[in-house]
Amino acid sequence: MLGLSRSRAIVALVAILATALAAWLAAGIEAGGIALVGAAVAALVAAPSVEHEASAALAPAPADDGVADAIEAIFEPVLLVAENRVIAANQAARTLLGEHILGEDVRVAIRHPAAAERLLNAEEASGAPIQLVGLGARDQHWEMRVRTLPGGHRIVHLGDRTGSHAADRIRVDFVANASHELRTPLASILGFIETLEDAADDPETRTRFLRVMDNEARRMQRLIDDLMSLSRIEAEKYRAPDDSVDLPELIDEVHGELAALSPDRAGDIVIDADPVAPVRGDRVQLSQLLHNIVGNAMKYGRAGTPVAVSLRSAGESMVRLSVTDESEGIAPEHLPRLTERFYRVDSSRSRAAGGTGLGLAIVKHIVERHRGRLDIASTVGKGTTLTILLPTIPLPGSLSS
Ligand code: ADP
Repeated sequence: MLGLSRSRAIVALVAILATALAAWLAAGIEAGGIALVGAAVAALVAAPSVEHEASAALAPAPADDGVADAIEAIFEPVLLVAENRVIAANQAARTLLGEHILGEDVRVAIRHPAAAERLLNAEEASGAPIQLVGLGARDQHWEMRVRTLPGGHRIVHLGDRTGSHAADRIRVDFVANASHELRTPLASILGFIETLEDAADDPETRTRFLRVMDNEARRMQRLIDDLMSLSRIEAEKYRAPDDSVDLPELIDEVHGELAALSPDRAGDIVIDADPVAPVRGDRVQLSQLLHNIVGNAMKYGRAGTPVAVSLRSAGESMVRLSVTDESEGIAPEHLPRLTERFYRVDSSRSRAAGGTGLGLAIVKHIVERHRGRLDIASTVGKGTTLTILLPTIPLPGSLSS
């Protein structure tokens, strides 16, 4: 087989050299030169094929069925490698790298420079895992581990770390955003303190500056309160809430609190609440949820237009709470991102209205903790409806109890 390949390479080389000579004779030196380059390329192409066939002749035997079955049972990609050839690969590995990888050089099978470098060095094979980005989909993150077995075979395991990488990214972005949000009012307060020292004799300026500083300090306080709420709700994520909450009563209570905070707009709130079954919930968190969603409808709805709060039973085990406002609405591309922390459609408007950018993120976490569902629908030019489904406490003796 080796002799056959070598003679084929020699035949290819002779044939192309003859072509070069013919081209030179027929069309001059330039054409001959081109053909010679072609000959060199052909020789380069022929060489690996010689090598490939030589190594194929010495290729290690495929793994036996027992080993193949064992790695098939693993959900993440696993390859068994002998003398750099893939002798077994489970379904996950074949889906990621292609069905053709069996029998291939492992560095060709896992087409990644960092992987190739690690696999090249057999001594290093039992070292720390390495990170591979861009294997499969462009934004996928994998962790490759290589272990050498007593017989010299190597196991290559690829762990999908895309999820934890995304979580890390979200955490880093969150810390950066929160620091930025806190630094802005703080810088303003510090600036005003400095200017105030120079304007100590002017009572009018002093009063104006103190008012601005008060606003900025309150903004920081709201932000810190929301950040603390968010972390408390997240910490309690897996602890089911256990109060029995009468939602119509809570809606009235929140209405009263909002009326005290913004009397101008409170008169526009229209409540239509059925006497629904109580919800198994956390009363403080559900009150915060109502404050945030009714508060948003008051803030972003057009002044003087109604804010409709409705509460209905939804099937046997849920209640549907919805809040509808009349406003310019929200464009569809923003809707999926509204519950992200610090995501705002219009930052200056949100800040001017005292928003922290965390209200809907808090709502989302509260709904999740209550095993409920949240939906935001909006029509540009018309308004927005936020709907929340919450499970009720099963009645004694009912099938679902
Ligand atoms: P904020 O403190 O900025 O109000 P939220 O998390 O409560 O933060 O809301 C995120 C963004 O969603 C807001 O900045 C606003 O752009 C948009 N939004 C929320 N509720 C409404 C609404 N009822 N009508 C229009 N836009 C809204």
